Amino acid sequence: MPETPLSSLVSVCQSLASTRKRLEKREMISSFLKNLEPEEIGPAVLLIVGRIFPETESKALNIGYRTIQKAYGKTKQAILTEEPLTILSLQKVFKDIQNITGKDSVRKKTHMLEALIGRANESEQEIILKNIYGEMQHGVSEGVMLDSIADASNADPEVVRRANMLTGDMANVATIALTKGEESLKKIGLNLFTPVKPMLAELAEDFEDVFKYHEGKSSLEFKFDGARIQIHKKRDEIRIFSRRLSDVTGSLPDITALAGGFNADELLVDGEVVAVDKSGRPLPFQDLMRRFRRVHDVEELVKEIPLKLYLFDLLYLDGELLIDLPYEERRNRLSEVCQEELLANRVTTDKTEEAESFLKEAIEKGHEGLMAKSLSSDYAPGKRGKKWFKIKPADYLDVVIIAADWGYGRREGWLSNYHLAVKDVETDEYHMIGKTFKGLTDKEFEWMTARLQELKTRESEYTVYVRPEIVVEVAYNEIQKSPKYESGFALRFARIKRIREDKSARDVDSIVRVNELYQKQFEKKGVLG
Ligand code: AMP
Repeated sequence: MPETPLSSLVSVCQSLASTRKRLEKREMISSFLKNLEPEEIGPAVLLIVGRIFPETESKALNIGYRTIQKAYGKTKQAILTEEPLTILSLQKVFKDIQNITGKDSVRKKTHMLEALIGRANESEQEIILKNIYGEMQHGVSEGVMLDSIADASNADPEVVRRANMLTGDMANVATIALTKGEESLKKIGLNLFTPVKPMLAELAEDFEDVFKYHEGKSSLEFKFDGARIQIHKKRDEIRIFSRRLSDVTGSLPDITALAGGFNADELLVDGEVVAVDKSGRPLPFQDLMRRFRRVHDVEELVKEIPLKLYLFDLLYLDGELLIDLPYEERRNRLSEVCQEELLANRVTTDKTEEAESFLKEAIEKGHEGLMAKSLSSDYAPGKRGKKWFKIKPADYLDVVIIAADWGYGRREGWLSNYHLAVKDVETDEYHMIGKTFKGLTDKEFEWMTARLQELKTRESEYTVYVRPEIVVEVAYNEIQKSPKYESGFALRFARIKRIREDKSARDVDSIVRVNELYQKQFEKKGVLG
């Protein structure tokens, strides 16, 4: 069979961009995949999602923006004298470029990229560039691709998803699905030294919420403000991976040494490392970052910034995959294989007061909050769900009410869902950041309803718009970026704590302040690869 030309893949990508319907996208991708030769499936999948190399591969293409610009600059006109590009030949060139290292690598890479672009027509060039940047702009998420693979191979989408979670290698999953079928996919297990995507948590509003989803009882652990790591061990070989699955073993010789003491031949444990001072209290995140970034003279920094390791899960032990066991059992097995002092602090409780006092203890000891884990939950790699909740102590903002919706049910007759706004200091306008109907007593609802009507500027069927005069202090658990409101942000779980009659609208918090709080909340996410 002749190799599939790159132009076929380009036209699939163009069709994908022409529809917003997920089902149509799935249909287009699956019929394309079905017509490929086995060795073309993996590269095609990655080219379509714009990730030439599997996520877990630590070597990136590593071409800087300037190099790309240079290469494109030189070859505006395609020289269509050579053989047309195919999926496989493009994959090969990308691999060759990836493998170039050493002194003269930038020049060599530029040269190869120029040659590649010279062989491509305009729409092929576009796909190549989009792949280099990892942004295809045709709305094919990992989820759509996995469903398409399931369609193309008649496999259960859950089986495909699980294989992808465990290996983090969509190309390989697609190849196995289409060439060997569902039964072979089911046999895919966990490979030591291939990182697994860590399980994530949803933000909980309060402990009531946690207990509701965790069958009345939950295991609470400190939420450490450090960096997620997973440690893989096979006899004397130990490798450590970050949350984003890069290999960070070289920067963490002290943690590697600790892992040497685990009482097992083979295992994979999940945990968090935190930089600490001499008394063992957590240090700012910046200190931890220095440890992760250092690749030379690491030993020096190990002494200067000691790390503390906290373990909270065990995914694999001596040939046995444990992710389907209940959390409680995995935790018990963990305590049998690792040193007691490495286990994350925890209490299991069904009582709100006990939970509150454990949260207080976590904060007093310098941690971020708590994690609540369902005793019966499996380990779901890469998933954010209600099996694990994070609980953060509330933060507070002063905001002004700019409108209110009429309530219904118990709140009928009251203006009780308040539109909350912060100040734009440049324009002196107030922009919305959320709504809440929580936190007021019946008496306060009544007072608010009367007062807001005095301030009315206009109204619609459900909403009364008012002059911005009533200031309230709201508690919230997280700030999200959101296109829903003009401020660009949205508060999660906002509730009114106090009506601030002592404050005027001029005193409320600003968008700049909200942005600062948002940056602080997420500053670590982008940094630790
Ligand atoms: P977030 O990044 O806010 O979604 O919170 C999830 C992160 O909390 C995880 O990825 C871990 O890095 C971190 N974490 C800290 N302590 C724990 C714990 N006891 N269990 C699970 N994750 C934890």
